Amino acid sequence: MLTGKLALVTGAGGGIGRAVCQLLAEAGAKIMAADCNHTAAKETISLLANNDHMARRMDVSDSQDVKAAFDNIQSKYYKPPEVVVNAAGIVRDNFLLKISEEDFQKVFDVNVKGTFLVTKKACEVLVDIGAAGSIINISSVVAKRGNIGQCNYASSKAAVETFTKCVAREMADYNIRCNVVLPGFIATTMTNEIPEKVKNMFKSMIPMKRFGTPEEVAQMIKFLASDESSYITGSSFYVSGGIE
Ligand code: NAP
Repeated sequence: MLTGKLALVTGAGGGIGRAVCQLLAEAGAKIMAADCNHTAAKETISLLANNDHMARRMDVSDSQDVKAAFDNIQSKYYKPPEVVVNAAGIVRDNFLLKISEEDFQKVFDVNVKGTFLVTKKACEVLVDIGAAGSIINISSVVAKRGNIGQCNYASSKAAVETFTKCVAREMADYNIRCNVVLPGFIATTMTNEIPEKVKNMFKSMIPMKRFGTPEEVAQMIKFLASDESSYITGSSFYVSGGIE
């Protein structure tokens, strides 16, 4: 399904990013696992079957880091990644009346600017050699519905969804597709710290009455990465157990 493809996955040391690396590698892709936590990215690579993958520390909000990672890919694989999954993301939850300017900005730096920097660089290098590509971004159901305590995160994820649609329109002529996945509540370190009482409240709102797994999100991303989704661009996909 993805044999011969090279995939760059950001946030690859985290729950969803790791599951994406595993499914894309099983489908035949070579993986560049990038994360600001190099140890976690290396752990992800150690779980993959063959050894033609690589892990790299990369802060997606730092344009020099992003450039260096793409240079590194070029010197190792002699081509740019045809698949890019922007899974790096952070939360800094707080109520509007309490949130600091710094925590608002930080979330936009990683979630929005990070997605922008990696997507821009990926498109530049693909356009340069006339290669097709598939970029998959990660928004969230809270981009649609808002959430108490997440004015920074929810609005950053709304920006990611709209950004995706702009990229899809601009890049269609170059055969570069760009789509976005909107997970609901997924069991990863990001949601681990939610108090049990609040988790149960969220579960009662989800039609399927449970959190999703990282693998369930990764299955959708694998489909969007592959040529099986060749006529799909600029589209948003819920993976949310029915919550919108
Ligand atoms: P996660 O387990 O916390 O993984 C996120 C990974 O991104 C972590 O390894 C994190 O490293 C890394 N990261 C943070 N800042 C970075 C930066 N500046 N540059 C590069 N890597 C960075 O979270 P997840 O649940 O897998 O989330 C993956 C994506 O899905 C995120 O965009 C998230 O917003 C989105 N999402 C998650 C859920 C959910 O319920 N889990 C729902 C909707 C959307 P550190 O751990 O060192 O910070």
